Amino acid sequence: MSVSGLCQICESRPATARCENCGTLACAQHYESGLGLCADCAAQAQPGRERSEVDEYRF
Ligand SMILES: [Zn+2]
Ligand SMILES: [Zn+2]
Repeated sequence: MSVSGLCQICESRPATARCENCGTLACAQHYESGLGLCADCAAQAQPGRERSEVDEYRF
């Protein structure tokens, strides 16, 4: 995977990957390669792969 541009989180390092969730370009420090997520999304994501968000509305 190759991306060009600056990390959109610290805006000081060249980005090395793109977040699979939000598409943010992230440098090595702000990208969780194990999760494929930027630091922001990784912080919100649970260790498991099950997510229960408020996106789901039940009536
Ligand atoms: Zn960064
Ligand atoms: Zn993200």
